[in-house]
Amino acid sequence: MEIQIRRQLPKHLKPRPADDAALGFGDIYTDHMFKLDYYDGAWRTPRIEPYGPLQLDPSAMVLHYSQTVFEGLKCYRHPDGRLALFRPRDNFRRFTSSAERMAIPLFDEELLLRGLKELLKIDGSWVPSRTESTLYIRPTIIATEPHLGVRPAREYLLFIIMGPVGPYYPEGFAPVKIYVEPHYTRATKGGLGAVKAGANYGGSLLATELAARKGYTQLLWLDAVSHRFVEEVGSMNMFFIVDGTLVTAPLSGTILPGITRASVMTVAGDLGITCEERGITMEELMETQKNGRLTECFGSGTAAVISPVGHLSYQDETFIIGSGGIGPITQKLYDELVGIQFGTLPDRRGWVEFVE
Ligand SMILES: *Cc1c(COP(=O)(O)O)cnc(C)c1O
Repeated sequence: MEIQIRRQLPKHLKPRPADDAALGFGDIYTDHMFKLDYYDGAWRTPRIEPYGPLQLDPSAMVLHYSQTVFEGLKCYRHPDGRLALFRPRDNFRRFTSSAERMAIPLFDEELLLRGLKELLKIDGSWVPSRTESTLYIRPTIIATEPHLGVRPAREYLLFIIMGPVGPYYPEGFAPVKIYVEPHYTRATKGGLGAVKAGANYGGSLLATELAARKGYTQLLWLDAVSHRFVEEVGSMNMFFIVDGTLVTAPLSGTILPGITRASVMTVAGDLGITCEERGITMEELMETQKNGRLTECFGSGTAAVISPVGHLSYQDETFIIGSGGIGPITQKLYDELVGIQFGTLPDRRGWVEFVE
């Protein structure tokens, strides 16, 4: 399918942010967006248009029944100026599995990757050149059919928007404080936990807000059944270093299969660090913390890459992890991943895909 391109008029192009170091997350968008419609049983009319508001009928099904999925990936500027994506095919594959779970019709992943690259060629000047700043890419699908009966919609809009972002955490690569959620749960077996559905986030806001009022940047969710096993943090998978071994929760259907998570495990393996995917309880973490065997803890996700955790708060107790600073393995994994993404270290695994 050919991608139609309608460019923004030069006089309407937005000014680029002057200072890449001062960028936040999620407030600024580039001049263009990619769009694809679904109606009459097929995805149609892939196109790039000026970025702008959408027109939706108030009865559009997404507004009532949350039939929507999204993805999150980044574009990095390499030292030679080239624009690079990190494992983008894995994002589009996951986009498909999210769509499938939400009864959204499947699309051509190759077409989306091609559309994204075209979009990046047009808006490439928006990709920051300062390390830690990137262009965040947000593919989204929404059910647009105006209809209030409960069933999968028959019309959808798929769009890709992009915006320059600074470090995800205002603290930058510095240890964060995490609140272990004692009451609310994020996902149940057979639910939506393993897919990027907006509904997962809507349901997590209240608990996250209550924790924020207590001064915590992020929540650590426990399993919905026993409330003992560690699952994941708001938008990151969790890793613990116990007795020098990297431990992370298995992909048992309630946690998101992070691409950063998979990359961390591969890089750790190559660095000679043993990695275990297994259930880990809060009791085990408290125990190993008390006798000095829990030395590091971090979250992994596209937005923050790796986010060291300095302390966990659980049932009125606070646990300092290791020294409370950034552990040596956490630092090594961060340096390796960021190096590959930004092109300062060799990409030996074929993870980097250039825009042209
Ligand atoms: C997106 C996301 C992650 C991280 O996935 P990456 O592919 O590494 O960005 C982790 N947990 C949740 C809930 C997410 O939505």
